[in-house]
Amino acid sequence: MSTNKAVFLDKDGVLNIDIGISKEISETKLFEHSGGVISYLREKGYKIIVVTNQPIVARGIVSENELKIFLSEFEKLLKSQNENALIDKIYYCPHHPNANILEYRINCDCRKPKAGMLLKAADEFKINLNESFMVGDRVSDIIAGKNAGCKTVFCKTGKHLEKMIETDIKYNLDIKADFEITEIGDLKKLL
Ligand SMILES: [Mg+2]
Ligand SMILES: [Zn+2]
Repeated sequence: MSTNKAVFLDKDGVLNIDIGISKEISETKLFEHSGGVISYLREKGYKIIVVTNQPIVARGIVSENELKIFLSEFEKLLKSQNENALIDKIYYCPHHPNANILEYRINCDCRKPKAGMLLKAADEFKINLNESFMVGDRVSDIIAGKNAGCKTVFCKTGKHLEKMIETDIKYNLDIKADFEITEIGDLKKLL
């Protein structure tokens, strides 16, 4: 039975300022309300799942192991902002269709706008996707959320004006999110 509800959060541009390529956790700046909102959503009974494309692995800028360490430091950073800002799990896609590193050069099912990471989480955490929300700053996040059957929230603090990233799936360019927010703190008004 899929009885849990979740908020799926994109990472860069939603939880932290998107500065592009970054290997150092000391460069990560959380948005002011990131930790507080996660704490609030947990109290409302949502699972907190982060879903993030990390093609820096495919490009050979960091190893997958270095990425895992970085992401666990990111979780600590959130906790230091708010002690109840706990993430249930971070799913990442290390692949890219044009990766430098052969092992990651695949058309995977996890790279957003595909819904693979959300579907995997739904399976692992018994999540009812129709009761869940996907929050992201790119059109690819919104498409992934819709493809998974979630309600979608466009967060306008990141790459929301940038063009669509490369993908091999068909999508509707005029796709609209169900909701728009100006920063992650606005989720408190919505959920
Ligand atoms: Mg983003
Ligand atoms: Zn992938």
